[in-house]
Amino acid sequence: MPIHFVDLDVLSEVSGLSSALIVPCNMCPAATIAIREKKPFLQLFRSFLKSAPFDQYIKSLQSRLKEKGIDTKIFRSDFIHQWFMCMWSSGHRKKLQRYANSYDAVIVLGCDSATQTVRDLVNPAEVKVIEGMKISGIMNAELKFQLPGNISFRNCKIIPISPQNK
Ligand code: SF4
Repeated sequence: MPIHFVDLDVLSEVSGLSSALIVPCNMCPAATIAIREKKPFLQLFRSFLKSAPFDQYIKSLQSRLKEKGIDTKIFRSDFIHQWFMCMWSSGHRKKLQRYANSYDAVIVLGCDSATQTVRDLVNPAEVKVIEGMKISGIMNAELKFQLPGNISFRNCKIIPISPQNK
């Protein structure tokens, strides 16, 4: 099951900056937000492969950043093979590299591995890498399919990652 996250304070990290590229991993963070909001992860016949709760979460983050004077854009990874930032193709990594270096910051919504994907691509002297989420555990949940095409997680438990369990 995916990693579970809590939010980090992104707004305090963007002070003095004017632009940021938001780079979301579409798997574990999207599952986290769907569970938090108690909404379907996917509704295939309404938004197909876009997780609506995560989409709303990102839009809300963009609004809060705009209030702080930060222009943002989302780096889209809409195809399913681009969802997992830890397994991006070299082509998608190069595409991010082309985009990211023209922003003051990249805000990563994902785990340490997602952040590493970004750190490997940007010039740290010019682009600040900001983590928007922090790992709080691993999810243990039941996957539920409901007609006409809803995919949800039920009975979710957050299992802490402890040194003893490694
Ligand atoms: S990059 Fe991290 S958050 Fe994204 S799918 Fe891989 S493990 Fe999950």
